[in-house]
Amino acid sequence: MPEPSLKIDHARYILTIDRQRRIIQDGAVLIEDGRVRRVGKAAELRDARADRVIDGRHLVVTPGFLNGHMHISYAHPVRGIFPDEQASPLVHVFNLQGAMTEDEEYHATLLGLVELLRNGTVCFLDPGSTKFPDACQQAYEDSGIRVILGECVTDQPAPFSLPRYAAPEAVARTTSFLAKWHGRLNGRIRAWAMPFSPETCSAGLLQTLKRVVDEHRTGLTLHHNSGTKARQDSVARHGYTPTAYLESIGVVGPNVLLAHCLGLDEAEIDCIARTRTAVAMCPVTAAKSGRGVPEHGRMPELLARGVKIALGCDSPNNSNHLDIVRTMNMAAIQYKDARQDTRQVPAEAALEMATRHGAEALGLGDELGSIEVGKKADLVCFDTLRPEWQALWNPVSNLVYAADGRSVHTVVVDGRVVVDAYRQSFVDEPRLYAKVQEIGERLQARTGISFPRSRWPMS
Ligand SMILES: [Zn+2]
Repeated sequence: MPEPSLKIDHARYILTIDRQRRIIQDGAVLIEDGRVRRVGKAAELRDARADRVIDGRHLVVTPGFLNGHMHISYAHPVRGIFPDEQASPLVHVFNLQGAMTEDEEYHATLLGLVELLRNGTVCFLDPGSTKFPDACQQAYEDSGIRVILGECVTDQPAPFSLPRYAAPEAVARTTSFLAKWHGRLNGRIRAWAMPFSPETCSAGLLQTLKRVVDEHRTGLTLHHNSGTKARQDSVARHGYTPTAYLESIGVVGPNVLLAHCLGLDEAEIDCIARTRTAVAMCPVTAAKSGRGVPEHGRMPELLARGVKIALGCDSPNNSNHLDIVRTMNMAAIQYKDARQDTRQVPAEAALEMATRHGAEALGLGDELGSIEVGKKADLVCFDTLRPEWQALWNPVSNLVYAADGRSVHTVVVDGRVVVDAYRQSFVDEPRLYAKVQEIGERLQARTGISFPRSRWPMS
């Protein structure tokens, strides 16, 4: 059944993020068959009729947000268990993930989707965390979200428990995953190759997977942690810096998305820009885990070279929240402080990464990332009847510096209203919350992974 048509009328502002970056006051959007049919001044769309009309007088409308690196599996049930001083909890992370049952992962995923959608994210890339996509498909379907999925594969030893296969099996698993999942749910599910990292995969595996995604016209993502130590290791092992190594084996290009990317040197930045390789950065994770953004963060240089960067929230135990608005805020303020220069990463650049440029980084720039005629109708309406939206002169400034995802009022994906005046209707939230809390209790008991609950006495 086709979605009913929808009109958002008299919007206070529409941030189109179109080619000219038009901001329309007293604007209107007409959505038919899941696509933007018209967008302009309310007066120009006066004749446009729709099955449903949303009064936009108190709304700021933006494109739906994309989250380019968002592990969505084990973490919600045990969010916040790692104490601040736990520098790298990865060993525990993968043990907890490995212990998740199908039912547990389904419920954790549902909670992730509620949090993502209610904060305005319409599309996210899960870098291979989901072990039971068959079970989770119901959650993707019910919620209406877009997701880029893949199976995590490695063929080399790792310091934590990752799925490891002989290279031919890793390739076969990836190929059958792509064949099974790519394009499901009316194209809302995309499937990518997801080798964990260059350190945990052989050159042969990475090269074959790159060929596979070229043939299937889809993407490949990798954790790409550079920095001094990684550079030394890479030079010792391969004779190249981490990024130069990827180029030497042909694993760069517009369908390759490198996640995190801290500590790149000039030549690596040049390589990424020259090969039009995409990047996903997680500024809140970087700050929270003390990665040294002043020393290692190169977002301004990547942006200056026109590299397409998507923002990511990483996981509920890394950034700890799934709010891309707070992530935009961090991206915009982090580099001003790091470089002691307020010209770094303007609010507009942060918003572009969460929308238009993020969509391009995920290979979805033709369909998503802006409110333009012909594109998919994915958009977010912010409620300005809240203190943080006062006074309102520059909606980009209010959005990036004053607001957060809690003022997301309405979310539309593929022309379907999935959050309607703050409410989603695909899950009973209080019941789900209780269920996920229970799962967390069971998971800690079963794995023996637990930490003192609080530094302060809890009775
Ligand atoms: Zn990751």
